[in-house]
Amino acid sequence: VNDGAVVCALIGQGISRSLTPPMHEREAAAQGIDYTYLTLDVPAAAVSLTDLAELIDRARAAGLRGLNVTHPFKQRIIGHLDQLSPDAERLGAVNTVVFDGEHTVGHNTDWSGFARNFDLHFGAESTDPVERARVVQLGAGGAGSAVAYAMLSRGVESFHLVDADLARATALAGNLRTLFPAVEITAGATDDAPDHIIRADGLVHATPVGMAAHPGMAVRPSVLRSDLWVAEVVYRPVITRLIAAARAVGARTLTGDGMAVHQAVDALRLFTGLEPDADRMTRHIGEL
Ligand code: NAD
Repeated sequence: VNDGAVVCALIGQGISRSLTPPMHEREAAAQGIDYTYLTLDVPAAAVSLTDLAELIDRARAAGLRGLNVTHPFKQRIIGHLDQLSPDAERLGAVNTVVFDGEHTVGHNTDWSGFARNFDLHFGAESTDPVERARVVQLGAGGAGSAVAYAMLSRGVESFHLVDADLARATALAGNLRTLFPAVEITAGATDDAPDHIIRADGLVHATPVGMAAHPGMAVRPSVLRSDLWVAEVVYRPVITRLIAAARAVGARTLTGDGMAVHQAVDALRLFTGLEPDADRMTRHIGEL
């Protein structure tokens, strides 16, 4: 790495077409920084063989400033880091690693990115904040755990978590109860989701259903109502069937590209110390 140049990398599986690298590089170029963002796409067959300790050592020795970490390494990487931000520690997942000399520090910008996007459009910084006493969330995987953490830190009073894998929903709900003891947190099967959605103010969708590779909707359109806001994590496509169906009944919606932009904003800030321009990055992701 040349003097003054900043090099970072994304490590994960199936990330060759990720929009995160061009988002980082375009914003850094707009700020006049010599910045390169590499992609280390690990083939599925090599995931269990990947030596994260060696990878971190090599990246640091090569002069990288930091790493973004995605599926399926967000939890595994934790054992190889010197320190965690308080939120990454509570959440038990890391998507951003900053090299500070010999020191490695893990952060989680998935939750902060979702939370920032929520605050801007649905929360404290919006002109018309949404009701959020009762929220139902579909999906208790990697994205789901970060998004649930964000919602629970934003004043939800009753939170119902649904996953096709009931044991996964139950386990995440248990962890969240210890982190947010004042909130009523329950877990349930997908069949019972409509009974909970009927009484909810908002629906958060954090399963892969709606992506090109998983077309469709994780709930029946009949559960949607004009007074049920919908927040989506899927962002390819940005207008998923769920978002389109929610808009068709007049519901307020939050699309997944906002989380994608704001997790990158927060990571780029951690890597460079500069303040990224979130509006410019939002325009860029729309062009990619
Ligand atoms: P994951 O595999 O870790 O978890 C997905 C969960 O959804 C699993 O627990 C699975 O059992 C559950 N599920 C699948 N189909 C379901 C259904 N029909 N009903 C209920 N539950 C169901 O995946 P992930 O890493 O959490 O990713 C989920 C989605 O979030 C992906 O589309 C990913 O692209 C997106 N994502 C977006 C951002 C962003 O910045 N917008 C960030 C991370 C992930």
